[in-house]
Amino acid sequence: MSKGMGSEFCNQNAYDAIQIHGGSGFMKDYACERIYRDARITSIYEGTTQLQVVAAIRHVTTGTYLEQINDYAALEYAPALKPLQDKLAAMTKLYSEAVEKVVSQKNPEYDDFHARRLVEMAGHIIMGYLLLGDANRTPELFTKSANVYVRYGEAEIARHHKFIMEFNEQDFADSYKAE
Ligand SMILES: Cc1cc2nc3c(=O)[nH]c(=O)nc-3n(C[C@H](O)[C@H](O)[C@H](O)COP(=O)(O)OP(=O)(O)OC[C@H]3O[C@@H](n4cnc5c(N)ncnc54)[C@H](O)[C@@H]3O)c2cc1C
Repeated sequence: MSKGMGSEFCNQNAYDAIQIHGGSGFMKDYACERIYRDARITSIYEGTTQLQVVAAIRHVTTGTYLEQINDYAALEYAPALKPLQDKLAAMTKLYSEAVEKVVSQKNPEYDDFHARRLVEMAGHIIMGYLLLGDANRTPELFTKSANVYVRYGEAEIARHHKFIMEFNEQDFADSYKAE
């Protein structure tokens, strides 16, 4: 999960780095064009993102990630972090609903179709809790990162949840049959 999501994030970060530098960022004068080229391979070698998802989805469907998330949720955090803790609890509820909807179809192809969305949802929650733990231990270093990341993850989870909950299973069945 770390490799899959981290290598996708590094592609986006390298893209943004060039964008911030404008035309200069595209030229070889600056390191970011090299970083951009190097970033592109990270989501391919040592297992493509899609293969990381194939490996990770079983931990969604068996509930391993949810157990891990619940373990993090049960830890003690400083009162100042309560708003972030509440957000992570709400994100977990949306994740559980989405997993339930997908798994209830009892169709492995349907699981595969939503796999990346579900793995990313779990990833945002797990990384959010890890940052919450960091902010709990070293607030001066990690509170800002935890705040930024949890709010980002919250929006991403809302997006995936909406897509999964509003997805019409018949559309999937029809397109699968058409093949
Ligand atoms: C610069 C570089 C260095 C490398 N170094 C090494 C090395 O040191 N050692 C080594 O062993 N290998 C190395 N490789 C190979 C690398 O591991 C493979 O390129 C990588 O595993 C992807 O395999 P592939 O290129 O055959 O793509 P394919 O397997 O053909 O994949 C093509 C696309 O299909 C998708 N796909 C494939 N199967 C599935 C599936 N089941 N479900 C969903 N999507 C799927 C992939 O995600 C990808 O988007 C290197 C490659 C490069 C470019």
